[in-house]
Amino acid sequence: MSRITRSTRRPDRALWLRVVAELGAAPVIEAYISAAEDDEYIDGLCEGGDVVINPAHQTVDTVIHELLHRIYPHRTERSIRRSVTILRRSLDDAEVIAFYAEYKRRRRTGRPRSADL
Ligand SMILES: [Zn+2]
Repeated sequence: MSRITRSTRRPDRALWLRVVAELGAAPVIEAYISAAEDDEYIDGLCEGGDVVINPAHQTVDTVIHELLHRIYPHRTERSIRRSVTILRRSLDDAEVIAFYAEYKRRRRTGRPRSADL
C-alpha cells in the first residue's frame, strides 16, 4: 500500500477555499516536465501563471510500488519502498514516459474502495 498520513486538524480553511477557487481560475496544463538536472524529477511548476502538472512521476512510483507487492507478497513495506527508490533513481525520462504511457493504456476505472489497515 502506498499512502500519505492525513491529519484531522484543519487549521486554515480560508486558504483551502482560496486554493479551490484558484483551481477554477488558473490555466492547468498536464504535461511531462524534464528536469534540467538528470538527478531530479519535477512533478509540477507555475510558469507565467499557468500551472503545469506532471502526474507521471508520482503515478509511476505508485504503480511500481504496487507491482512489487504483487511480485513479492511477503516483503515488508520498508523493503518495497527501498526497491522503488532504487529502481526510480535508475530510470531516465524516456523510461518514465514509456512506463506511464503503458500504465495509461492498461488502467481501468474501478469502484471506490477503502483500505482496511
Ligand atoms: Zn506498500
